[in-house]
Amino acid sequence: RAKAHGRGRAELFDETLRLQLHQRAELEAAIASGLVNGEMQVAYQPVIDVATDRLMGYEALIRWERPGVGLVPPDEFIPVAEGSRLIGDVDRWMLHEATRQLAQWRAECPAAPGEPHPTIAVNISGRHLADQRVITDVADALAASGLPAELLVLEVTETVLVDDPLAYDHLTELRSMGVGIAIDDFGTGYTSIGQLRNMPVDTLKIDRSFVASTEPAHRELVALMIRAAHTFGLTVVAEGVEEPAQLARLKAQECDQAQGYLLYRPMRAPEAGALLRTTEAAGSV
Ligand code: C2E
Ligand code: MG
Ligand code: MG
Ligand code: MG
Repeated sequence: RAKAHGRGRAELFDETLRLQLHQRAELEAAIASGLVNGEMQVAYQPVIDVATDRLMGYEALIRWERPGVGLVPPDEFIPVAEGSRLIGDVDRWMLHEATRQLAQWRAECPAAPGEPHPTIAVNISGRHLADQRVITDVADALAASGLPAELLVLEVTETVLVDDPLAYDHLTELRSMGVGIAIDDFGTGYTSIGQLRNMPVDTLKIDRSFVASTEPAHRELVALMIRAAHTFGLTVVAEGVEEPAQLARLKAQECDQAQGYLLYRPMRAPEAGALLRTTEAAGSV
C-alpha cells in the first residue's frame, strides 16, 4: 500500500511538473511572438529632483498587452524570459524603443541652454548583463537612435554586481562609453554600503520597502545610505514614494531624486511626451 501510495504521489508530481513546463513553454512562445507582433509597449515613469521638483528623467517599464488575456505585469513574464535567451530579446527591444523615443522627444523639445536634458533609464536583466553581447546591444541602440550615451541609464540589481565578475566587467565597459549605471532596488540584496565605493555605478535607487517602512531603524538606514552614497559621489533616487510625509522626510535627508505614485504613475508615451514639453517649456522661461 505504501508503495502504491508513493508511486501515486510521484505520478502526481510528474503531472504537475509536466504541466508547469508546458505552461512555461507556452508563455515563452507568447512572449516571443508578442515582441514581434507589437504587443509590447513602454510605460514611462517620471523621476523628479526632490529639491526643485524638476523632471530629471524617466524610467522605461515594459507593458505587455496580451491578446485575449489583457495586461500581463512584468513580474509575471520577465522572470520567465530570464529563464531563457528571450530576456536578451526583451532588453534589446526596450533599449531600442526607449532610446528612439527619448531621441525623438529631444529633437521636438531640446533642453534650455545650459540645462541637462532628461534621461531615460532602462532595466537590464542580470543574465543579459553577463552576456558579452550586451555591449553591442547598447552601442547599437545608441547608434540607431542617435541619443547621446549620457542620456541613457542602465538599471541593474545589486546582486549582479557582487556575484558576477563578467557582468561587472561589462558594466565597467558600458560606463566608459558614457552610459550611466544605477543600482536598482538597493537594500534588498546583500551589498554593504561600503562596497559601493568600488562599484562602477553613478546612481543608487533605494528600494521601495525602505521608503515605505515606518520602522525607525529603516528610516535611519535610509539616512545612512544617502550619506554614504553622497560620500562616494553617487546620486540617490528613492523608489515608490507614495505619501507626502515620505517625500518630506527624504527631502530632509537630502535625497536627490524621487519616483513614485505620489509624484507620477508610469504613463504611456503621448502623456510622457506632453509632460516633457510642458516642463521643458517652463524651464526655458
Ligand atoms: P523596478 O525596476 O524596480 O521598477 C519599479 C516598479 O515599481 C515598477 O513596477 C513601477 O510601476 C513600480 N512603482 C513605481 N512607483 C511605485 C509606487 O509608488 N508604489 C508602488 N507600489 N509601485 C511603484 P513594474 O512596471 O510592474 O515593474 C516591475 C519590475 O519588473 C521592475 O522593477 C523591473 O525589475 C522589471 N521590469 C520592468 N520592465 C522591465 C524591462 O523592460 N526589462 C527588464 N529586464 N525588467 C523590467
Ligand atoms: Mg528599475
Ligand atoms: Mg526598483
Ligand atoms: Mg525591481
